[in-house]
Amino acid sequence: MTPDDLKALVRTVPGFPKPGILFRDITTLIAHGEGLRSSVDALANLANGLGASAVAGIEARGFIFGTALALELGMGFIPLRKPGKLPVATLHEDYALEYGTARLELDPTLVNADERVLLVDDLLATGGTAIAAATLLRRAGAVVDHALFVIDLPELAGRTALEDHGLATHAVMA
Ligand code: 5GP
Repeated sequence: MTPDDLKALVRTVPGFPKPGILFRDITTLIAHGEGLRSSVDALANLANGLGASAVAGIEARGFIFGTALALELGMGFIPLRKPGKLPVATLHEDYALEYGTARLELDPTLVNADERVLLVDDLLATGGTAIAAATLLRRAGAVVDHALFVIDLPELAGRTALEDHGLATHAVMA
């Protein structure tokens, strides 16, 4: 499938979760067998040659694509979780979202020192989530230079924000 075919499988929902937001709903993409397969293949192509040995995904939609990508690449998967979910001591980062604030948590023992980790999420908007995720992984000892997304919303300039934090953006569709 082409990026345009994949784009057509993403449902755009105006006014969610707040008035004025155009929400890109990827559930219609992942419910489509060929769409899911093609999205994961496209992520794997983007990951080619980036030299990582683990994939980290951001809860919750980053878990769907991140786990599939990790399996495809034969790597382990490191979850970046919402608060209060992990049963062990965690590192955390607070960050601003397009709508509100949020926190991510990481079990630092999941990261090997100096391991190159690919960051994966469904969508890049302002970049705050991915920057918080990379900061957490780096605090745990990882090298994080690349972030992969299914969708980049270029009008929100997340790519530039990520660049300013030493992260190259790779996206299946923009
Ligand atoms: P950012 O931090 O880049 O502003 O926002 C990206 C984060 O918020 C990602 O974790 C993403 O899942 C979520 N997000 C923000 N807007 C949307 C959207 O329109 N659709 C989806 N699926 N996720 C969104």
